Amino acid sequence: MICLSLTERRLEDNLEVAKAQADHADCCELRADFLEPEELASLDRFPRLLGKPCILTLRRRCDGGLFDGTDAERAAIFRRCARSGFRWFDFELDFRAELPVRTGAETGPEKGPRIIRSHHNTTGMDSDLTAIARYLSENENEIPKIAVTPRSTAELFALLDLAAELGSRLKTREKILLGMGEWGFPTRVLPLRFGSSVSYCTAGPVRAAPGHVPPKELDLLYRVRAQSGGTRVYGIIGNPVMHSRSPFIHNAGFAELGLDAVYVPFLTDDPALFLDRAEELGVEGLSVTVPHKRAVISRLDGSGPGVEKVGACNTVVRGDGGWTGYNYDVAGFLEPLKRIWESTGRKHRKAVVLGAGGAARAAAYALVTEGLEVIVLNRTLEKARALARDIGCRAARLDDEGIDEARSYTELVVQTTSAGMHPREELDPFAPYDFTGDETVYEIIYAPRETRLVRRAEKAGCRVIYGEEMLLEQAYLQFEKFIGRSYPREDLPKYDRILQRLV
Ligand code: NAP
Repeated sequence: MICLSLTERRLEDNLEVAKAQADHADCCELRADFLEPEELASLDRFPRLLGKPCILTLRRRCDGGLFDGTDAERAAIFRRCARSGFRWFDFELDFRAELPVRTGAETGPEKGPRIIRSHHNTTGMDSDLTAIARYLSENENEIPKIAVTPRSTAELFALLDLAAELGSRLKTREKILLGMGEWGFPTRVLPLRFGSSVSYCTAGPVRAAPGHVPPKELDLLYRVRAQSGGTRVYGIIGNPVMHSRSPFIHNAGFAELGLDAVYVPFLTDDPALFLDRAEELGVEGLSVTVPHKRAVISRLDGSGPGVEKVGACNTVVRGDGGWTGYNYDVAGFLEPLKRIWESTGRKHRKAVVLGAGGAARAAAYALVTEGLEVIVLNRTLEKARALARDIGCRAARLDDEGIDEARSYTELVVQTTSAGMHPREELDPFAPYDFTGDETVYEIIYAPRETRLVRRAEKAGCRVIYGEEMLLEQAYLQFEKFIGRSYPREDLPKYDRILQRLV
């Protein structure tokens, strides 16, 4: 179930939000601790007006909520609402209120609410989570709920261990297990994998808990309601990773082809551990992004062409022989250029590559393999030199002198530094160079679509290749490797329209 947490200050506004999101949520949680105090008097009419199963929650500040009253005041509010049609009451581990509550077997709102017995930790993971889980699940008429905040890959997998423990002990009994924040995000989009019957979300700007996304995102992008025990899981590992556009591309492809598969952003600080345990999450393939493209290579059981030479891997696939790594940045980078070469009948002979990071390595390798003469300019000269040695090209520092040295190479300018990327949009790593209009400028940053450097190039009349073209091309290749079918690119609206449609 997708549960929409309602965090407006007035009941009427909460009803509006619920109505607008009706198609994307199965039930609601009224966060009564967010309400204006005078609204509490009318709480009991809310479930009838809502017309959907509803949880009543009055979260205390110490548990991450806004309720400042006493436990006695809270108990009085719950008692008053006991017969008003709320399907569930959320009670913390230590909270007791004498109420006529529903037992597991009874159904129907007239039977009174069922208790969700919850434990929250908004700053970390408790060391005694297993013991807490046991307390929470003592009363078999109650639904145990644990919402904690993992802060690493290891802690995300500790939650998975807890899910396995709860699963073997509580069997089919309903339970809710959530990881808050970015590290816990997989628990929200893969609730079944964590044995959870509910995934919570918030529609408005005031999030009920860290890590909440809008219901449309859970429903349309991650298709949480359509997932089964056999859903194939793919994703991206990186740090940071939540800004990644890849979930939009891959999930739109899965949806279009009607596949029971989902693509998830996994914030990861330990790629080796992630690969070791990925199978337990059902993960069959991953995109790899900054800063793990190089580190992941040592954990591979095999690799495709270019990975060793480029020294970076952006795709891993799990097979019988373990993990095999590929670098689709190389082919993804070349694809838009090849289109230009074909349409103009003229191939560039020389190129300047700005930057010497992972993306620069893929770009320089691709260009040298295609027979171009390349000079790499980088802020840190040693890195440019190392790249040039590995790949077979020239190197210079990214400064006035280096730019002068590169002037005869500028028929193709490839920008691969992160300077100019959101949020440092004011940066232009090639600022001393004045475009003449004859250059082809390939900017691989895709957020924003038009960097400062690109705007200058456009103004001078240069042909421009935008970062999203490479992003899409390498994603299409990954998609094909993941599922063995071509990406349905013709059937889908363009990538920016996919974004608008889903969020
Ligand atoms: P990386 O390995 O961290 O390398 C970053 C590069 O940027 C280094 O060469 C670094 O120079 C340079 N740099 C950073 N800040 C700079 C500044 N203020 N001035 C000049 N140079 C600066 O990152 P990466 O993996 O290569 O990714 C780089 C960019 O490419 C990112 O924006 C990423 O999103 C984008 N990318 C796009 C695609 C796509 O499909 N379109 C694919 C991959 C990457 P130093 O060596 O001196 O630190």
